[in-house]
Amino acid sequence: MSTNKPLPTPTEISAPYWNGLKEGRLTLPQCKSCGHWVFFPRRHCDKCWSQDLEWKEVKGTGTLYTYTLTRVPTLPDFADEMPQKMAVVELDEGVRLIAGLVGVKRDEIKIGQRVQVEFQSFDDGELTLPMFRPIAA
Ligand SMILES: [Zn+2]
Repeated sequence: MSTNKPLPTPTEISAPYWNGLKEGRLTLPQCKSCGHWVFFPRRHCDKCWSQDLEWKEVKGTGTLYTYTLTRVPTLPDFADEMPQKMAVVELDEGVRLIAGLVGVKRDEIKIGQRVQVEFQSFDDGELTLPMFRPIAA
């Protein structure tokens, strides 16, 4: 889908994350020294400070940690998706990421419900964002 909405700009450090999404894969850096999953992407492990990290694909399942419904568009460009369903998802690997919720009515959203990643591509595949959809418990 084409959009005027602001999109993230990949950096050298985060590029593997965005490239994985483009290929329909959710990948995260994992510390080779202590096994800790690191997110947001950075050059070192935030637990043991090792710089020996490796990008790995994860299942993309987790639980809804928290969410908010915006009643006023965060920018005029988002007026078409009101209310925006903005979530913090805790992946099964323990990291939390911010993403949109899809496939659920606002009165059916429940903190702690199981969710699964899906991929929404923008600007002719230029950038792909992770979205999360509830799955049956
Ligand atoms: Zn580590």
